[in-house]
This record gives sequence, C-alpha cells and structure tokens, in this order.
Amino acid sequence: MTRTHLRVLFLSLALLLIAEPMVGCTTNAATGRRQFNTLTRADEIALGTSAAPELAAQYGGETPDESLQAYVRRVGMSMVPHIEGDYEELPWEFTLLESDVINAFALPGGKVFITRGLASKLDDESQLAGVLGHEIGHVTAEHADKRITSQYAAAGAAVLVGLAVKDDDRDWVRIGAPILVGVGGQGFLLKYGRDEELEADKLGMRYMDRAGYAPSGQLGVMKVLAEASKGPRQPEFLSTHPHPQTRIKAIEKKLQNKYKNSTGEQYKNRFQNDFLSRFAMMETPGSPIALIGH
Ligand SMILES: [Zn+2]
Repeated sequence: MTRTHLRVLFLSLALLLIAEPMVGCTTNAATGRRQFNTLTRADEIALGTSAAPELAAQYGGETPDESLQAYVRRVGMSMVPHIEGDYEELPWEFTLLESDVINAFALPGGKVFITRGLASKLDDESQLAGVLGHEIGHVTAEHADKRITSQYAAAGAAVLVGLAVKDDDRDWVRIGAPILVGVGGQGFLLKYGRDEELEADKLGMRYMDRAGYAPSGQLGVMKVLAEASKGPRQPEFLSTHPHPQTRIKAIEKKLQNKYKNSTGEQYKNRFQNDFLSRFAMMETPGSPIALIGH
C-alpha cells in the first residue's frame, strides 16, 4: 500500500466518522437494495427546488402553452400512485421545456422535465409515459443522490485536507445544487451509468404497466432516439442516458417475458390529436427574426 493509498484510506475513514450521524442504512422501496441515506427527503426536495429554475432556463424555460403542460402533467401524475414507499408523497412536477435539444431529466425530490425537442418526436402517449417513467425511476432509485454524496465527500475531503470542517460545509443545497445544474449547463451529475439506465428503464416499465400504458412504449422511445441519431446532431438524451444497445436488449427481453401478456394501451390517437397537433400550430422556438437595418 502506497502513501497515497494510506492517505485515501485515512480520509475515507475520517469522512465516515464525520458523516456517521446523518447516515442511515435503509432498504430502497423501489429497487429493494440496501443503501446509505445521506440525503433526507427534505434535502432532496430542497435541492431539486433550488436547481430547477436554472436548469429549466438552460433549456429554454417552460413551454407557455398550458394545455401542453397539462398533458405532460397528466401522463406523469398517472404513474405517481403506482410508485413505491414514500416516493409517492414527493411534490412531483412534470414540465415541458421549450428547447429543441432532445433530452429529458429529473432532479431529486420529484421534478421531471422533458424538452419539446424530444416530446415532439414521440409517436404515442405510451412513449411519453416511457420517458417520464424512466425519469421517475432515476428519482425513486435515488441515482442523483449517490453522485451528490460522492461530490459532497470529495468536497469534505478537500475541506479535511485544509484542516477545517465547518458545519455549513454540510449544506446540501449550497454544495449540491451547483453540481446538479453544472457549469455552463453540463449537468454532469445527471449523466448516468449503464446499471442506472437499466434500472430506470426497469422501474419506468413497471410504473407504465401499472398505470395502464403499454410497456412497449419504452422500446418505442429507444427507436425514436435511434432514428434521431441518424440526423446531423446526436440526441443529447443519449449522452445523459447512455448505453442504448444494452438498454434495447434488456427492454426487449422484458417485453418477451414479464410483459408478454400486457394489455396496456398506447393512446396514439389522443396523443396525435391533443398533443402533437398543438406543436404544429405553435411558432418554432428560436426562429430568427429579421432585423431590418442591421
Ligand atoms: Zn436515464
């Protein structure tokens, strides 16, 4: 063991001792996994609330059409009664953002976003439920919490090296919110790993199925993204939610086994008539305005 290893070990132990009073080991109701809880539900909600306005602004702000917002909200909220444990009681919000970048993301505490760029590429309501269900899965599996905790630990380590640990260095909102939003809109904490993606797909399909949606909508989303990646710009969704090939295989396997007899609906007609058709009537976001005299 090198000196560096020893130093890391010492710091890790010191951090564990410092963190110990706020750490509790519980079973995650959605994943069934034992996990350390460093963030309380109140911490998660405060973090999400703090990070949401800046993140929304980076993606063009909220789409001003209330009927489109109501549609997205209805689809998202239809799955909320079917999620596990106390996650159902989070102040869930589902918001359509104006950006034409193809992405969707969720903040801790239950704030879920989908861009107009992604929503307008979908074919039916089960696909919209697929995107929102997947994001709900990231929240209930507490994937962002893990990143925040490790960033916090890193910040704690930096503080330790400086031989000063102040009480306010445990302020999750102060440390966590900028990490979530990222510098220059990178939002690197909202980029997930393979296992997290597979888990969010699995949970999303579970919530879709329970809410009466065809779980095949999740596969439909992956096909839409594959099609979009043939275009000039890669869908940003695939960089924040990577490993599409592995995900497609896992989703197909679930459709052939667990959801073989699913009677869920796609709701294609109402999606086309009440949702997609409204996009066509709206002005294209960011369309250039001729500046006469310039
Ligand atoms: Zn994801």
